[in-house]
Formats: sequence, structure tokens, C-alpha cells
Amino acid sequence: MSKGLVKFDEERCKGCELCISVCPVKILKLHETKINSKGYRPACVTDTSKCIGCANCAVMCPDGAISVYQDE
Ligand code: SF4
Ligand code: SF4
Repeated sequence: MSKGLVKFDEERCKGCELCISVCPVKILKLHETKINSKGYRPACVTDTSKCIGCANCAVMCPDGAISVYQDE
């Protein structure tokens, strides 16, 4: 069962992949087709049901592009 909900501000993302590297359940990736207005492929979630709400991704993002909400 999902314990966290991750939201991306895709326009802030620079596609650095730091969030992807720190996710313990490996559910983040760069979007395959979407490109934001800065020319970057934004990060996205592959399987929202596996998010444990740890917020590692949000803490690591240098651009403040990620918000994690706890699923009560
Ligand atoms: S909150 Fe944790 S488990 Fe969920 S996407 Fe971010 S790093 Fe992965
Ligand atoms: S850490 Fe932030 S800027 Fe880097 S890919 Fe993830 S969401 Fe985008």
C-alpha cells in the first residue's frame, strides 16, 4: 500500500537524476517523451503504489521541484 505521494514541478526540473539515484524503491525515472520549457526531460514516478514516503527525493532535489505528501 502506498505511503507517500510525490508531486513534481516539471518546469523546475533540470533532469539531473539525483532524485532517481536516492529513491530506495527505484520508482523514479526521467520522462521518456516530455520536455519542459527549459529543454530538460523532467523526472516522474513509474509506480506510485510503491512510494514509501521517505522524502529522500525531495531532500536531494537542488531545484526544489519535488513535494512529498504522506498518505495517512
Ligand atoms: S518519497 Fe522516497 S520512495 Fe517515494 S519517490 Fe521519493 S525517494 Fe522514492
Ligand atoms: S533531483 Fe530535482 S532537478 Fe534533478 S531530476 Fe530530480 S526532480 Fe529534476
